[in-house]
Amino acid sequence: MALWDKLTSRGNIEDRRGQTAAIGGGLGVVGIVASLLYSFLSGTPIDVNQILTQLQAVQPAQQNLTIKDFEGADNYEVFASTVLGSTTDVWRNVFEQNGTTYPEPRLVLFRAATTSGCGIATSDVGPHYCPADQTIYIDETFFIELQQRFKAQGGDVAEAYVIAHEVGHHVQRELGTMDKVQQSGNSNLSSINLELQADCFAGIWANSVAGLGIFQPGEINEAIDAASAVGDDRIQQSVQGQINPETWTHGSSEQRVKWFTTGFDTGDPQACNTFS
Ligand SMILES: [Zn+2]
Repeated sequence: MALWDKLTSRGNIEDRRGQTAAIGGGLGVVGIVASLLYSFLSGTPIDVNQILTQLQAVQPAQQNLTIKDFEGADNYEVFASTVLGSTTDVWRNVFEQNGTTYPEPRLVLFRAATTSGCGIATSDVGPHYCPADQTIYIDETFFIELQQRFKAQGGDVAEAYVIAHEVGHHVQRELGTMDKVQQSGNSNLSSINLELQADCFAGIWANSVAGLGIFQPGEINEAIDAASAVGDDRIQQSVQGQINPETWTHGSSEQRVKWFTTGFDTGDPQACNTFS
């Protein structure tokens, strides 16, 4: 367990885990596709009907959850808020050094499904960032899947890396990189560059909090292991039983580890130029 108590900043968190998913109205296919582009996990292509069917399937489970289960700030909420706050400290500094201000992102905790500025956020997509409302959406039960299905060792530093990666997408939005990539036509290659840069940005964050003495010896390996576990090759191997590099959206395990490590070792955002 990293020494999160040493960090005093907190992020802007909204806890919707006790709410029944409010689905319907304003669903945009484009929004769902856009949110998939920035999702942490790439999987097989998802069609909207499939998502809606799955949403109906999850409704009964939702009824077991009441707002009482998440009254007050539980451990996960405090953890997410602390990690988010620490990313803000890092990026606020970087932006200030460049003479600009860093607008904080928001983070919504949910179960199964919730509405977002990009349409519906579902757990299937995994943790993701919606540029339209500058908000990160996380159903933290994803981390159980990450361990069970994708054989990641897990751990709090691994989970923090995921939040820092999504914050990396927010940074890309604020820098205008995301717009540029979208205007260039959304090729798989652009998507991979964007994702690898978000991994590198997560490394920048890790470098900074490591400097504050947050990680205990060896704990950074949890993040490196998670970056490896969510490589497209490893996911395809476990989901489809075969590897198709032409359909990759996030990069291989090796690439993801390489870019996270680049950010972590250098602490220099300039080193995160995955587009060159
Ligand atoms: Zn991503």
